[in-house]
Amino acid sequence: LILTATGAFLYVTQAQNNPPDQLDADPTKPTLVVLGSGWGATSFLKSLDTDDFNVVVISPRNYFLFTPLLPSVTVGTLEPRSIIQPTRYITRHKKRKVSVYEAEAKEVDPTKKTVTFQDISDVKGAATDVTINYDYLVYAVGCENQTFGIKGVNEHACFLKELGDADKVRQKIMDCIETAAFKGQSEEEIDRLMHMVVVGGGPTGVEYAGELHDFLIDDLKKWYPEVADRLRITLIEALPNVLPAFSKQLIQYTESTFKENRIDVLTRTMVKDVKEKAVVVQDANKEIREIPYGLLVWATGNTSRQITRDLMGKLTQVQTQRRGLLVDDYLSLLGADGVYAVGDCTATSYAPTAQVASQQGIYLASVFHKLGQKAKLEQQLTQLRAQPSADPAEIEATVKKLNRAAKLTPFHYSHQGSLAYIGSEKAIADLPLFNGNVASGGGAAMLFWRSAYVSTLYSVRNRTMVLADWAKVRIFGRDVSR
Ligand code: FAD
Ligand code: NAD
Repeated sequence: LILTATGAFLYVTQAQNNPPDQLDADPTKPTLVVLGSGWGATSFLKSLDTDDFNVVVISPRNYFLFTPLLPSVTVGTLEPRSIIQPTRYITRHKKRKVSVYEAEAKEVDPTKKTVTFQDISDVKGAATDVTINYDYLVYAVGCENQTFGIKGVNEHACFLKELGDADKVRQKIMDCIETAAFKGQSEEEIDRLMHMVVVGGGPTGVEYAGELHDFLIDDLKKWYPEVADRLRITLIEALPNVLPAFSKQLIQYTESTFKENRIDVLTRTMVKDVKEKAVVVQDANKEIREIPYGLLVWATGNTSRQITRDLMGKLTQVQTQRRGLLVDDYLSLLGADGVYAVGDCTATSYAPTAQVASQQGIYLASVFHKLGQKAKLEQQLTQLRAQPSADPAEIEATVKKLNRAAKLTPFHYSHQGSLAYIGSEKAIADLPLFNGNVASGGGAAMLFWRSAYVSTLYSVRNRTMVLADWAKVRIFGRDVSR
C-alpha cells in the first residue's frame, strides 16, 4: 500500500515537472515584467494565465518566503527551508515559459517604460546591469525596515523580515548564551548577555517574544541550566499598549500571558538611541535611561524602499504619499501607463499584510486575464471587419464580448481575520464571523493558527516539512547547535 501511494505521489509530482510543451516567448505578445517574489508577486504569478504575455520575473531572492512563520525560524522551531519555495516551482508549471532573474531592480523609468536591474550575487559574471522594456509592469517590491533614522539601529540591531535575518537572530542568541556560559564571566555581563530586548509591540515583535519564551522554557533550561534562569525578555513599545490593531480583549489577554511568562512589557516607552550594548529609552515621564542588552531585535514596522522613493520622485505630480505608492481602485499606479502596484509598497486604506498583498495579486491576475482576452478580441474584430463577407451578427457579438472584457470591477478586500502566536502554545485570533468580530485566545486559537497557516502554505512539500519540524521539536526539542 505504501509503495503504491509513493508511486502515485511520485507520478503526480513528476507529471507536473517542466511541461515539455511549455510555449516559447512570442514576440507578438506584450512583455509583462514582475518585480518581486513575495506575497503580492507570487499570488499574482500563481493565478496568472501566461498565454497572453511574455513574463519576466525579477527579484533579489529566487524564492517565496512564508513570512507568518518566520519568527519560528529564529529559535529553531522551524527549519529555514521549510517555509520557502523556489519561484521557478511556480513558473515551471505555466503554459508559456517565464524568465526568472535573481537580480535587484535598480530603476524604473515610467516614461521610457524600462526597468534596469543588477545581478547582486557574489559571483560576478560578465553581465551585471541590464535594461529591458516593458509593456506592463507589476510592481511588488514590498518595503524595508523602518528605523526612523535612530542612530545605531542598522549597526547593532537585528531585523526580522528576511530569511537571513532569522538566521542572524538565531546565531546571535546562541552567541549570547554561549558567551554568558563562558568560564569566569562576570555576573553583570551574564545579565546583559542574557537580556533579549525586542523593540516594537506590533505583531512581529509580539510573535518573536513568544517564540523566544518557548525556547527558554522548553529547551534552554535543559541544555544550559547554568544560565537559563538569567534569561530575560523585554518588549519595548512606544504606544500605551501592544498590538494596537487587535481587539481590546486580545490585547489584555496577550499582556497578561506575557506577564505570566515573565516577559516584561514596557509600554509608553520609546527607544531614542541604540548603543553597542544598551538601548537608550525615554519613558512616559520623559525620563531617559539605558537598558543593557545582549540581543536586540528591531520590529518597528515598514518604510518605502529606495527604488520606490525614486519612482515617486519621477511622478511627483500624483505620487504625493510618503507612505507608499498611490494606486487607483484597479491597482493601476497613478501617473504611470501600464504599471500596477500591489502589497506593502502601496499606500492604501489597508494594513500592510500578507492577506492584502495576496488578495491584490489574485485580483490583478484577473485584470491581466481580461487584458489578454481584450487583446485577442480586438485582433479578432479587426480581422472580421477586414472581411467583406463578414456576418454583422458575428461582429456585434464580438463587440459585446469586447465590452465585457474591457469592464473591470474594482479591487475589493475581504478581511479573513488576524492571527498571532504569543508563546506557551497560545495564539490570539480576531475573526470576522457571524457579522461581528469574534476574539479568541488560548490553546484552541493556537490549533486554529497552526492549521490556518499550514493550509495557507503554497505547496505540499512546505506543508509536509513544517508538520515534520513541529513533530521533531515535540519529540527531540530544538537543536541548540549552530
Ligand atoms: P514582500 O512579501 O516583502 O515581497 C517583496 C519582494 O520584492 C521580495 O521578494 C523581495 O525580495 C523583492 N524585492 C525587494 N527589492 C526589490 C527590487 N529592488 N527589485 C525587485 N524585487 C525586489 N502578514 C499577515 O497577513 N499575516 C501574518 O501572519 C504576517 N506575519 C508576518 C511576520 C513577519 C515576521 C513579517 C516580517 C511580516 C508578516 N506579515 C504578515 C506581513 C507580510 O509579510 C507582508 O505584508 C507581505 O510580505 C507583503 O507582501 P509584498 O509582496 O508586498 O512584499
Ligand atoms: P507595526 O507597524 O505593526 O508595529 C510596530 C510598532 O513599533 C508600533 O506599535 C510602534 O508604536 C512601535 N514603535 C515604533 N517606533 C518605536 C520606538 N522607537 N520605540 C518603541 N516602539 C516603537 O510593525 P510589525 O509588527 O513589523 O508589522 C508590520 C505589518 O505586518 C503590520 O501590518 C502587521 O499587521 C503585519 N504583520 C502581521 C502579523 C500577523 O498578523 N500575525 C505578524 C507580523 C506582521
